[in-house]
Amino acid sequence: MNIVLLGCPGAGKGTQAAVLCEKYGLAHISTGELFRSEIASKSPLGLKVEGFVNKGNLVPDEVVVEIVAGKLESLESGWLLDGFPRTLRQAEELDRYLATSGKRIDFVLLLSVSEEVVIKRLAGRGREDDSDATVRKRLMVFRDLTQPLAAYYRGHGLLQEFDGAPSEDQVSSALTVFLEESAAKSGS
Ligand code: AMP
Repeated sequence: MNIVLLGCPGAGKGTQAAVLCEKYGLAHISTGELFRSEIASKSPLGLKVEGFVNKGNLVPDEVVVEIVAGKLESLESGWLLDGFPRTLRQAEELDRYLATSGKRIDFVLLLSVSEEVVIKRLAGRGREDDSDATVRKRLMVFRDLTQPLAAYYRGHGLLQEFDGAPSEDQVSSALTVFLEESAAKSGS
């Protein structure tokens, strides 16, 4: 099973990604986590992306696409992409890559939450890029560049939207019920 998890900053992608990956044995590919660890270790990639990440801007598409393609290349098992794609161009490049490697996305799960809830959640998180101004910037970037992906994947018949506002457990059980019902349908 190959999954793309979409949602604005603070929608709960990281938490839900961890639950689903554990439950279904998927490889968790989080571009945000990857960048944070490269920045912390001051690697050449970390130095290259630090300015973008800390200001709440997106890392250039070509940098991210190359990294994700490299990760997917080495995987035999199913995977879950958390925080990628984030632009239409990334989504198109991902589709091109998957087509050439004979793989596909099975589900795109969108976690929807209001900006009010997000601002409250992120205020308590304390990550380097969670300051007020950066959160606002990241939400703006999401609205302008990432939100259009919902329509893209809806058009491909892959999108399923979930309310991300309830508790973590409630959201995970909604996701799990959906995935299990879909698996049961496709198996019958
Ligand atoms: P996240 O942990 O997913 O919220 O990502 C944190 C930051 O990493 C984002 O605000 C971006 O600066 C950068 N980033 C993560 N994923 C991507 C992506 N797919 N494209 C561009 N930048 C990204």
